[in-house]
Amino acid sequence: MSADLVTWLREQIAEDQRAAEAAQRFHPTPWRVDPEVETTMETGRWVADAADEGVLVANGDAPARFFARWDPARVLTEVAAKRAILDDHRQVTFTDANLGIHNADVCMVCHAHLDYPDHFTEEQGDAWEYPLVQRAWPCPTVRALVAPFASRAGFDPSWLD
Ligand SMILES: [Zn+2]
Repeated sequence: MSADLVTWLREQIAEDQRAAEAAQRFHPTPWRVDPEVETTMETGRWVADAADEGVLVANGDAPARFFARWDPARVLTEVAAKRAILDDHRQVTFTDANLGIHNADVCMVCHAHLDYPDHFTEEQGDAWEYPLVQRAWPCPTVRALVAPFASRAGFDPSWLD
């Protein structure tokens, strides 16, 4: 399951990249709202590209600002950020016999306190500190990365469990 999640998520990120690059070829960034250009719609607002060409007419100022804010350059920075986070939060097979962890799929970046260590003894009493252990993979960060793509084909809801 885990490898499928990463493969699938990287494909979704690559799709976003291809869409942004294709749009950027038509309309160089940055995009901006151009209040000077009249439209036939009373509430219409132009979004223009870096070459002062019209990209689209949005029905309202807020949608126009939204499209300008999420121009292809912004999407490409989001793509790079998601890949960097995914690279950091990769799946690692981990063993720590002292903690009773054997060949567990974990994230080496995300940690949680182990509530019930196998080797807890009463003698340790109040001096016992719950050990910090690697989170099971997929970690909360990877789950957060995959969640926005839930409506796309091939998404497995169990990835969010
Ligand atoms: Zn993680």
